[in-house]
Amino acid sequence: MSSPLLLSGATAILPAAAFHDLFALLRQEGFQPVGPTIRNGHLVLDCLDGPDGLPRGWTTEAEAGRFRLQHRQDTAYWGFNLGQESWKKFLFPARLPVVTAAKHHGAISYAPAANHVPPYAFIGVRACELAAIWIQDRILLSGPVIDPHYAACRQAALIVAVNCTEADDACFCASLGTGPAATAGFDLALTELCGEGGHFFLVQAGSERGERLLAHLPQQPVQEGQWQQAQTLVAAAARSQTRSLATDGLPGLLYDRTEHPQWDDVAARCLSCGNCALVCPTCFCFSMAEETDLENVTASRWRLWDVCHNLDHSYIHGGWLRPSSKARYRQWLTHKLGAWLDQFGCLGCTGCGRCLVWCPAAIDLTAELQALRKFPPKE
Ligand code: SF4
Ligand code: SF4
Repeated sequence: MSSPLLLSGATAILPAAAFHDLFALLRQEGFQPVGPTIRNGHLVLDCLDGPDGLPRGWTTEAEAGRFRLQHRQDTAYWGFNLGQESWKKFLFPARLPVVTAAKHHGAISYAPAANHVPPYAFIGVRACELAAIWIQDRILLSGPVIDPHYAACRQAALIVAVNCTEADDACFCASLGTGPAATAGFDLALTELCGEGGHFFLVQAGSERGERLLAHLPQQPVQEGQWQQAQTLVAAAARSQTRSLATDGLPGLLYDRTEHPQWDDVAARCLSCGNCALVCPTCFCFSMAEETDLENVTASRWRLWDVCHNLDHSYIHGGWLRPSSKARYRQWLTHKLGAWLDQFGCLGCTGCGRCLVWCPAAIDLTAELQALRKFPPKE
């Protein structure tokens, strides 16, 4: 398996001026391109008509509790990192109708919701986000219950990854081996170079479908110097990451510290808002809710994102399993970095940094784990 710190070999150069051709080709093949764009001052994921919709010439500044969009000096298409939205917005939507019921002459009929699954082309999936999709695949596509909507979306989707040549202060993918370079799980992967040597993409095909698409694009051969330049930038993006998450000793380390005083410390700061889980690309908890029309003739059941920071998420048989914010934060972190390993054979974290960026209290899970490591559990 190739290293996420190294580009595994680009096969072609796509000039930036020909970037439109990739979008046109995807549309011709029946895909709806979606990717990062700026709407009302926010970096979001949405439908794109072409590369002009991308946040070209913008960069992100992301730290614990802080996010800013800033102009950059160059006209790079991919000179920013992550916004608050991840691709689970499309694969595992926040609101999904499940079943509808209708009353007619006193009889009630039920019908499963017919959810349209567009053939999306995800443009600009970062390495940590590919890792998140891989994790959600393990949870939602394997085991005794398969999520049919997720399965249909995954099957229909095409993935164009973008390797990171810069990292935000919140990123720690290098310490988890999930980035900054994409190694698998994509159809095409791009590495953008924008400087004195010109503006172009190194393109790598990761599937037969990707190879076929690449063959239809205007391309030039890769020069050794260009590949080396891209490699140097990706390696620098990894080296620049100041945060890290050490995984040695997990999950036992967390299981041994369920009564550690650090949980009281974090509970005094945590607002139980749930932002951390909502922005996390691997979290998959949900609840069910029913809606009826005002005439009480039709009703629908919805699957809605839920988070373990919500008090009612642990309500069962007349009581709450986790009545305190301390218990709920402990559940979130212990599940992500502990119990997931037992349940799914992987961590529930890819080092994207979103949870600490979008936490209003700037709570940083890497710092919380370090604090838990620092003091041994009470005997
Ligand atoms: S736990 Fe935080 S850093 Fe890890 S994948 Fe989720 S949002 Fe990203
Ligand atoms: S850790 Fe931060 S984002 Fe998560 S629930 Fe607490 S206050 Fe909200």
